[in-house]
Amino acid sequence: MFSKVLIANRGEIALRILRACKELGLKTVIVYSEADKNSLPVLLADEKVCIGPPKASDSYLNVASIISAAEITRADAVHPGYGFLAENPRFAEICENHGIKFIGPPAEIIRLMGDKQKARQTMKNAKLPIIPGSNEVVNSLREAKKIISSIGYPVMLKAVAGGGGKGMRIVHSSSQLEEAFQIAQAEAEASFGNPSLYIEKYLEDARHIEVQVIGDSTGKVVALAERECSVQRKHQKIIEETPSPAVNEKLRKKLLKDVEQAASAIGYQSLGTFEFLMDKDGNYYFMEANTRVQVEHPITEMIYDIDLVKEQIKIAGGEKISFDKNLEKRGHSIECRINAEDPENFTPSPGKIEFSALPGGPGIRIDTAIYSGYEIPPFYDSLIAKIIVHASNREEAINKMKVALETTTIVGIKTNIPLHLNILANSSFKKGDYNIRFMENFLKK
Ligand code: ADP
Repeated sequence: MFSKVLIANRGEIALRILRACKELGLKTVIVYSEADKNSLPVLLADEKVCIGPPKASDSYLNVASIISAAEITRADAVHPGYGFLAENPRFAEICENHGIKFIGPPAEIIRLMGDKQKARQTMKNAKLPIIPGSNEVVNSLREAKKIISSIGYPVMLKAVAGGGGKGMRIVHSSSQLEEAFQIAQAEAEASFGNPSLYIEKYLEDARHIEVQVIGDSTGKVVALAERECSVQRKHQKIIEETPSPAVNEKLRKKLLKDVEQAASAIGYQSLGTFEFLMDKDGNYYFMEANTRVQVEHPITEMIYDIDLVKEQIKIAGGEKISFDKNLEKRGHSIECRINAEDPENFTPSPGKIEFSALPGGPGIRIDTAIYSGYEIPPFYDSLIAKIIVHASNREEAINKMKVALETTTIVGIKTNIPLHLNILANSSFKKGDYNIRFMENFLKK
């Protein structure tokens, strides 16, 4: 096992990882940009190293600076969190080449899953149903037309290197195709430095269902109950819950078995999430796999009473998964992503938090790095806190979340708390009767 972990991230996830390391008796090093010098993870880590100016490309994405920081502080492991370098196979390799343990899957798995077209093909070979679409990268309009002639409109053009909801275009008819194809290619090039696209049938009324996977170096793989993440805006999740209101025990058993078998087939190690779209009849189709800790991991931790981040760190250190496949889940958990943004028009609202008072009590968990007086920098993601609740059933969980949100006070910036309260009060949401187009319809009203 390593002894000192460098945390190559910021905000709530850096703090989440820092606490896990401390509980495991590991020393911590935090790297940070000039914009984050007063952040909680920087104040609480054993050692800190400034790695550059605010812009992520000059700091949190600067591999050379991060590796130097690890060498100077003699850190023998790196935890990348989510975002930034978490799914960069080159970074994982460079860490390993420098004798620093990368806390995540082996680089070749990250590389394989990072190419979404290859991931589709691999999962198809591993017997997972995939969304109908292209079998290879689609390089020209002519190829695109050929594929669409077999699957029909509507379709989705997606970036092979995609992530964060970027580089995706819905196309409803042939008249829109040419323009959409060009825009999607340009967007993919600009966001990921790779214009390659692939095509999927656009599943309009589907739900986003995902499965948490954990694998260790002995080949043991465990899949945990699904998370429902269909409350999304612009393909970005806003609320997640587990279990899904649309998955019964029989379907869950089949889904988890399929995922376990597919993850085993590729020798999956560390934490990962297999994402699916599921139709009204409970048919699910593999969409992509994320090879990192996920923002919404806490809801799984709540229903199983486990610590996935500690588990991930221990597995990287060569230990086995500490629980069994028959681990029992309990009750219902929901997460609301609190963003520093105007709930009316979704524009970011960075700035100083003059005062904050966060909720608490039984079954309430807050993952955040904010405090009264903290200044939210304008350079990064707008996620500032995750409110997570756990109760014996869905109805109680919704009610608990409502009270938690109502008793949250954040002064100085705008947040999306009013939006969350409106969603929780929506009758379709309350019934569990919603899909990935929920927000689109909700915002129209
Ligand atoms: P990213 O990695 O950029 O987040 P994903 O492939 O995970 O992209 O897709 C994000 C979201 O986009 C999904 O949760 C879903 O709402 C929507 N989406 C993606 N593919 C399709 C599809 N084929 N049909 C309908 N919606 C889709």
